[in-house]
Amino acid sequence: MKKRLETLRHEIERINLEMLDLLCRRGEVVTEMRALKNELGIPLFSPEREERMLRELVAANRGPYPDTAIQPVFREIFRASLAVMEAQAENEMRVSRGKRREDLLIAIGNLVVGREPIVVAGPCAIESEEQLEAVAAHIKAAGVTMMRGGAFKPRSSPYAFQGLGDEGLVILQRVAKRHGLLTVTEVTDTRSVDQVARYADVLQVGARNMANYEILREVGRTKRPVLLKRGMAATIDELLWAAEYIVLQGNEQVILCERGIRTFERATRNTLDISAIPLLRQRTYLPVIADVSHAAGRRDILAALARAALAAGAQGVMVEVHPDPPAARSDAQQQLSLEQFTAFMSQINLTRPHAD
Ligand code: PEP
Ligand code: MN
Repeated sequence: MKKRLETLRHEIERINLEMLDLLCRRGEVVTEMRALKNELGIPLFSPEREERMLRELVAANRGPYPDTAIQPVFREIFRASLAVMEAQAENEMRVSRGKRREDLLIAIGNLVVGREPIVVAGPCAIESEEQLEAVAAHIKAAGVTMMRGGAFKPRSSPYAFQGLGDEGLVILQRVAKRHGLLTVTEVTDTRSVDQVARYADVLQVGARNMANYEILREVGRTKRPVLLKRGMAATIDELLWAAEYIVLQGNEQVILCERGIRTFERATRNTLDISAIPLLRQRTYLPVIADVSHAAGRRDILAALARAALAAGAQGVMVEVHPDPPAARSDAQQQLSLEQFTAFMSQINLTRPHAD
């Protein structure tokens, strides 16, 4: 009897190995299927097909395991297969850390994004030459090298100030030249991408357009550095896929920007997702910055958020500055006055490698 037990034990061990071999073969088939699904643009997860396969397996079950034991085993196999497919798809992303170990450095003028922390500052919207001039002179003296300012403003209400448009671009370029500042401004339409690229150094794709794939392709074709903001309800995956659209057009110069996501919390306009910063740094070689102004929607906690973002690995911060915030035509409640910006800079305590 002991001998028989020994034989059966060996038999079990042999079956285990056979089952493992079958699972490995299943994994190979899954891998090939993933490549085909990718080519054909078919989703990796197919719940109806899984349910059908489960029904067929239950029908073919001859015992002694009950259906209630067989089903979870196969469900787990399906889940593991999907995980294999997803991991492979992610590793094949061009923007994946797996494709390039070291951080991407993006040289824009004298600035190298990704090397030392940058501060991007400026008004929410360009309102007049005097307004931008006051901001430019102030931030330049504080050591900032890149100025922001919207000419085309994507506003939630169609009645709100939409920006100065082309006139804003002209002002942005003129003021920035006067102070030797680099510029970033938003593109809101595929038709104005070339126009914006003539006037600004960096093209911003805003949160509302992160999933506008035509805009992503178009800014990808310009070969200009792009500041890509996370959509307000976009996952980290979706942000990376949006960056992939740009990179796929041959433009690798993408700076990712965490700017807060919508949550139930109302004390802040959005919730700055600090976790996204180290996760993005882990998953991609692209530089990551944090826009604390649009995250908070208020001015009293900006330095604390900026410090947190930098401590979490952000390679820069963006902040809105206006010479007279209460009179601002957009985002009045979150812009810093010039004096408040000076305090902000001393509170975040960056060295000033770019000051010249
Ligand atoms: C902006 O930076 O001007 C802006 C509108 O921000 P977001 O797209 O993140 O809302
Ligand atoms: Mn704004």
